[in-house]
Amino acid sequence: MIKVGVAGYGTIGKRVAEAVLKSDDMKLVGISKTTPDYSAYLAKSKGIKVYAHSEADLANFEKAGFKVEGTIKDLLSKIDIIVDTSPGKKGAENKPLYEEAGVKMIFQGGEKANIAEVSFNAQANFDQAWGKRIVRVVSCNTTGLSRVLHALHSNIGVKQAKVVLIRRTCDPKEVKGLVNGIQPEMKIPSHHGPDLNTVIPDIKIESLAVVVPTTLMHLHTLIVEFKKDTSREELVELMKNTRRIVLVKGEHGLTSTNTVVELARDLGRPRYDLPEVVMWEDTINVKDGWGYLVYAVHQEAIVQPENIDAIRSMNKLMSKEESIKKTDASLGIVYGSLYK
Ligand code: NAD
Repeated sequence: MIKVGVAGYGTIGKRVAEAVLKSDDMKLVGISKTTPDYSAYLAKSKGIKVYAHSEADLANFEKAGFKVEGTIKDLLSKIDIIVDTSPGKKGAENKPLYEEAGVKMIFQGGEKANIAEVSFNAQANFDQAWGKRIVRVVSCNTTGLSRVLHALHSNIGVKQAKVVLIRRTCDPKEVKGLVNGIQPEMKIPSHHGPDLNTVIPDIKIESLAVVVPTTLMHLHTLIVEFKKDTSREELVELMKNTRRIVLVKGEHGLTSTNTVVELARDLGRPRYDLPEVVMWEDTINVKDGWGYLVYAVHQEAIVQPENIDAIRSMNKLMSKEESIKKTDASLGIVYGSLYK
C-alpha cells in the first residue's frame, strides 16, 4: 500500500483524494488545507484526516475551533508520496518542504515544467515516470491534447497539428470570470502547444486560445496533417477504441457542452464529472491529408485518473496498461460511448 498525502483540497485535490480512496493499492493518509472552510469540515465528515498546511495556518484552524491532526510536516512524516494540488505556482513554494521530508512528489499543470523530472500523461508517457521522484501532471487542456494526439501520432503519424482552444473563463465555484466578452489570448502560440511538447516532443504544433463566458468545459478544434493516408472511418474507429475518449453525436441532441453536462448528470456521475475527452463524432473529418476533430474537456475532472497513474508509475506498481485499466475501473471511466 503506497501511503499518499494530498496538499490542497480544492477542485483537483478533492478529486485526487477521492480517487486514492477508491484505489485498493494506495492509502490516503490525509490532506492539508490552508483554511478551515466548508471543504475542511466536509473532508473530516468523510473520515479524511485534515492537516494544517503550515504553522501559520494552524492558528486559523485553532481560532475556528477546528481540530487538525497536525501540520503538513506531520503528514509528510507518514507518507511515501505527496500530491500537491495547491493553486498554480504555490507548488514551487511548497517543494522545499517535500524535499526536506524526502517524499516523492506530484505537481499539477499550474506549475512550470521544470519543477519536475517528467511532465506526465498516462497514455503518452507512463513509462517515463517509472521510478521517478518528481512528476508534473500536465494541465487539463494539455491532458486532452496529449490523449488525442498520442492516439493519432502512434497509430497514423502526425506531421503537424494546429489547435484553437476555446477556454472556459473559470471553474463553476469561482467568484470571478469573464461575463460578457470573448477574450483572445494575445500570445501566439498560446502556452498549450509548447506544453504539449513537454509530453510529446516530436509533434510540430501551433496553438491559439480564446476565453469565453462559460464555466462548464473547454472545447478544442484540432486540425492535423497526417504522415500517411487515412479516412474518416479509420479516425472514428481509432477514437472509439482509445481509452478515456468517448464519442457523442449531434443527432442524439448532444450538440453543445451544456447538453453533454446534462447527460453526465443523468448518468449520475459524481459532480457531473467527465474525466473522458468528449469528442463529437459528427465533426471528425479527413480532407486532402488533413484531419479535423472537435472535442470538449471537463477541466475539473480530466486530470483525476492521470494523478493515480502517475503514483503507480513513480512507485513501479504495475504496467501502463494495467494501471490505466485499473484506474478506469475504479473511477467508472469508459471509452467508445457514454451509453449503449
Ligand atoms: P483550487 O483553488 O480549487 O484549490 C487549491 C487548494 O489549495 C485549496 O484547497 C486551497 O485552500 C489550497 N491552498 C492554497 N494555498 C496553498 C498553499 N500555499 N499550499 C497548499 N495548499 C494551498 O485550485 P485547483 O483548481 O484545484 O488547481 C490546483 C492545481 O491544479 C493548479 O496547479 C491548477 O493549475 C491545476 N489544474 C486546475 C484545473 C482546473 O480547471 N481547476 C485543471 C487542471 C489542473
